[in-house]
Parts: sequence; C-alpha cells; structure tokens
Amino acid sequence: MALRDQIDKRGPARHMSASDEVRKTTDYLVHGHLRRALSSAWRAADTSLREGDAEALRAIMAICEELRENPNKRIARDARQLSSYCQHTLNGAGGGVESHSIIARISRIRQPKRVCPDCAEQVQQRAHVCKFCGFRFESLDDPSE
Ligand SMILES: [Zn+2]
Repeated sequence: MALRDQIDKRGPARHMSASDEVRKTTDYLVHGHLRRALSSAWRAADTSLREGDAEALRAIMAICEELRENPNKRIARDARQLSSYCQHTLNGAGGGVESHSIIARISRIRQPKRVCPDCAEQVQQRAHVCKFCGFRFESLDDPSE
C-alpha cells in the first residue's frame, strides 16, 4: 500500500484505477459471484468514464456479454443495461486497444482445463493428448479397457 500511495498522489490508497476495478470484477466473475461482479462492473464503468479508459470499457462489455444471457433475469437485465451504457460511453470516448488478456481470461471460464499428470501443464478438458508432452489421457478415462 505504501508504494501505491507514492504512485498515486491524488488520494489515499483507497483509490482504484479503472483497470484495477475491471480486474476485481473479473475475479468475482471467475469465482461465480455474479451480483458482486455486476456492481463492481458498474463502479468500473464509472471510473473508466472518468479516466477516459476505452480499453477498460471494452473489457467491461466483454464481461457483460458473459452475463446478458444469464438465467437470473435481474442479472441479465443489469448486464444489458451496463453493456449499452459502455457502448454509448465508448462512442464518445474514441478508439482504444482491445483488452486481450481479460477477454482471453473470460473465455477460459467456459472451457474447464485439466492438468496433465505427466508435465503439469493445463490442457483442454476434452483433449485426448497433451499438447505439451504427448501424454495420452484415454488410459485415465477408460478404466474398463
Ligand atoms: Zn503433458
């Protein structure tokens, strides 16, 4: 925290940047805390707007994409509202760079990984062969054979 205080002279350590808030939102999402993720995403959107951070806004929209078809109607509606809020803000904020790391991280939520017992690298859940070391998973999956 001391380092943060030195970097950010505007205020106490409580201040979070837009990318900090997006990271926090992603953490909530990854751990399945959807309501907390959404309220954190709204805060992140406000901070992004204040900082003119288009990259953070795109990341928030990617988060909304994950939630807008959620079976919980309140969460889905909230995600759609936030998404269009970000879209409007972006139209005024100009260009920016895609937040590849965060979008990649979110897309991994849907694809559970398994850890190769041979080399300990993470590979796709449905892979038959480890792409890193060639270990064959069939031997683990089919005890009958
Ligand atoms: Zn392996």
